Amino acid sequence: MSIIDRIINPFKAAPKISLVKPHGKISREVKENDLKRLKEVAQQMVILAGAMVMRKVVVEVYAISHPQVDAKDPMRFFVFCPQSKSIRDRVNEFDRSFVIVNPRIVRSTQVMVEKQEGCVTFLGMANVPVMRHNKIEVEYQQIERNKFSGELSLTGYKHKDFSGIMAQIFQHEIDHFNAIYVHKNWKELNRTYYKI
Ligand SMILES: [Zn+2]
Repeated sequence: MSIIDRIINPFKAAPKISLVKPHGKISREVKENDLKRLKEVAQQMVILAGAMVMRKVVVEVYAISHPQVDAKDPMRFFVFCPQSKSIRDRVNEFDRSFVIVNPRIVRSTQVMVEKQEGCVTFLGMANVPVMRHNKIEVEYQQIERNKFSGELSLTGYKHKDFSGIMAQIFQHEIDHFNAIYVHKNWKELNRTYYKI
């Protein structure tokens, strides 16, 4: 059972965090001593995504990356958003957990495919074409809780192949860690970023 599975009724709670404006800060690796904070923030990220859908700000949120809510000390993790049924089914297929920590793409198909993508950091902007690998091999960690002590720890690296939408999400979220946005001209965009 994942940490996020324990959230009670996440979609009606008001989020305590909000999206930040796009920024150029590179995210750092998650360490064991970040986990207490990470767990709290990850829950809030899920609540935030749920609130955006409930308030009809967006139709669906697949995932949110930590740098989208923290411009000061962004870390390399993202959450899948369980209110999206297509995500729920796919996440359940592999290990029922919604938090992906320190993911890295270790292999990918050479051919890239053009996809249309949007990003909640740029709410209200139309999707844009982005080139993505159709298949990737990823390694990542997850969080586990010791049954007896209740302490949180990082798992070893897991390896997994993804294609289609899951491959697309991993590439999109990993780009966020490296301050790469689907809107490549984000620095020149003269727009208001609404707080959610
Ligand atoms: Zn995004």
